[in-house]
Amino acid sequence: MHEMTLAESIRDLIDAQAAKEGFRRVHTVELEIGQLAAVDVPALRFALNIALRGSVAGDAELAITEPSGQAMCVQCSTPVELAQRGDPCPACGSYELTVVSGGQMRVSGLVVY
Ligand SMILES: [Zn+2]
Repeated sequence: MHEMTLAESIRDLIDAQAAKEGFRRVHTVELEIGQLAAVDVPALRFALNIALRGSVAGDAELAITEPSGQAMCVQCSTPVELAQRGDPCPACGSYELTVVSGGQMRVSGLVVY
């Protein structure tokens, strides 16, 4: 399961951060998951509940934001908001869009005790 792999890499990242900065408990894990990142957020929450168990973030809250996708149309140079990959440009109907953002997935912050 893709989301479980992601959850485990998030846990490893938090563990590494805890070792480096010396905190022992995480209050909130802030995650940014772009709408074009192809991540199933409910499945990721579920996977994190399992993956984080027993770690420094074992009872942390998950604050997940899902920024929308932004793309640039190659044909008409219009910046467009993209709900999902494969959608056409709303201005000219072209499918030649370059994704600018929204495909990212990152831990944007950790609130620690
Ligand atoms: Zn266009």
